[in-house]
Amino acid sequence: MARVSEAQILEALAAIRVPGAGKDIAVADSIEGLAIREGNVSFAITIDPSQAKAMESLRKQAEDIVFALPGVSSASVALTAHRDEPPPKAPAPAKASLPNLGAIVAVASGKGGVGKSTTATNLALALAARRLSVGLMDADIYGPSQPRMMGLSGRPSSPDGKTIVPHERYGVRCMSIGFLVGEDTPMIWRGPMVQSALMQMMRDVAWGPLDVLVVDMPPGTGDAQLTMAQQVALTGAVIVSTPQSVALADVKKAVNMFRKVDVPILGVVENMSLYICPRCGHEDHIFAHGGARKEAEARGLPFLGEIPCDPAIREASDEGQPIVVSAPEGRHAETYRAIAEAVWNEVEARQGSRQRPSIVME
Ligand code: ADP
Repeated sequence: MARVSEAQILEALAAIRVPGAGKDIAVADSIEGLAIREGNVSFAITIDPSQAKAMESLRKQAEDIVFALPGVSSASVALTAHRDEPPPKAPAPAKASLPNLGAIVAVASGKGGVGKSTTATNLALALAARRLSVGLMDADIYGPSQPRMMGLSGRPSSPDGKTIVPHERYGVRCMSIGFLVGEDTPMIWRGPMVQSALMQMMRDVAWGPLDVLVVDMPPGTGDAQLTMAQQVALTGAVIVSTPQSVALADVKKAVNMFRKVDVPILGVVENMSLYICPRCGHEDHIFAHGGARKEAEARGLPFLGEIPCDPAIREASDEGQPIVVSAPEGRHAETYRAIAEAVWNEVEARQGSRQRPSIVME
């Protein structure tokens, strides 16, 4: 059987033209990805996507013409969007509006174990110390640690059978999947379950009214993070990192993820910045120090502060009495309060530009 050539195909197609803006375009100039494999011919015709329906007959015609050529055993023609025009942007999913929750601040990290939950808890408590009405939502559904850190346990009540009443301690309302299943139960989640669990914790918990909801995000940049970032109008994200370069590489991932879904980054916190010996008070930079600050500065992000690595911080959390409430006069509590102030300034700057009417003095 004679072999069909590219030239023969293009010549045969010269008879038909693609209607374009203003003038017709030769099909030969609109073909992409022409492939001939042992008599099987396939290619795409680029068209204006708004014309897709009208172009169906042209597609069929091209297919018939090519199929009729000697040496062609099959012809497969597809329509593809016009090269010059980017495909229409998919509409962003509508974000749930939860006005009762006030500002929603996500505390995130590129990976686990960097102190994200510790930061979220102490940040929430430091915000509450500013007389704000604060909620703390544990979205770390794979490893909820808020029940332990806040010293809370037991199933929350639901008097009406619809909404859940969050636990409250140290003046902060708190909800965690850990209250429902216990901290040690391994949790296996499938995509849609993650989404509905997180949305339920936002919508079906009697949070409000709050000034701010601090969300302890799951570590990493997977499905759960995307659900939160895409479905809820987050005011912004605080990214927690340790100073080592491996952790910083994950910061980049987290920053990029939030940027992709248009969530503002409120800033970066460096945790376990330096080590303080609990016996002698000697300070040591066991991990390189200052990496997160440099990373933040390089990316034009606010640097919110650095928290040393001090066993006292871990012990306080393990006892369910985070350092901000157990040692409010100490230097760590002061650091967390300074971070809370920096976060709140960033939040207000964003809310101010969106919501507050400006006061005009006459
Ligand atoms: P993540 O939420 O990122 O997994 P956690 O907040 O659970 O991290 O912290 C991991 C462990 O490190 C916990 O045992 C916690 O008490 C401890 N930790 C966190 N930050 C500090 C710190 N600044 N100093 C000492 N220990 C800390």
